[in-house]
Amino acid sequence: MALQRTFAIIKPRAIKNGHVGEIISAIEREGFTLHGLRMVHLNKELIKGFYLEHVHKTFYSELEESMLEGPVLLMVIEGEDAILRWREIMGVTDPAKAAPGTLRRKFGDDLTRNAVHGSDAASTAEREVHHFFSAFDLV
Ligand code: UDP
Ligand code: MG
Repeated sequence: MALQRTFAIIKPRAIKNGHVGEIISAIEREGFTLHGLRMVHLNKELIKGFYLEHVHKTFYSELEESMLEGPVLLMVIEGEDAILRWREIMGVTDPAKAAPGTLRRKFGDDLTRNAVHGSDAASTAEREVHHFFSAFDLV
């Protein structure tokens, strides 16, 4: 597998809870490198464009609310097989079901406020990176 880039978010509650340093440490410890990093307070329009596939789901309003709770950290990270490996390091969506040692298990509060995001496929990563970063922002 070649070097790959994926898109990651540290979600508002994880920032509020003081887990930024530990999450970025995990990224570096796992051998990823950072190629984009941006802190923003999202708005409804940006969230809707990002979570397009979930807009009509029953949990969307809670998801939206959780993403508006405070600023997020948007990141582009690179490594071997980065998309799949970052998903493994995060753990499954629900922190209660995520494996011990995963970021969602360690730092997630609940199913919605689950600390981190990661793209699920190459095409998704491409779309998500460019939803938030211009070529000028990426190194
Ligand atoms: N989510 C939620 N309730 C659900 C499923 C998902 O609040 O029943 C939230 C959760 O924050 C999750 C995000 O919506 O990370 C996107 O859902 P997805 O199924 O894509 O999970 P992910 O890819 O983040 O593991
Ligand atoms: Mg997803």
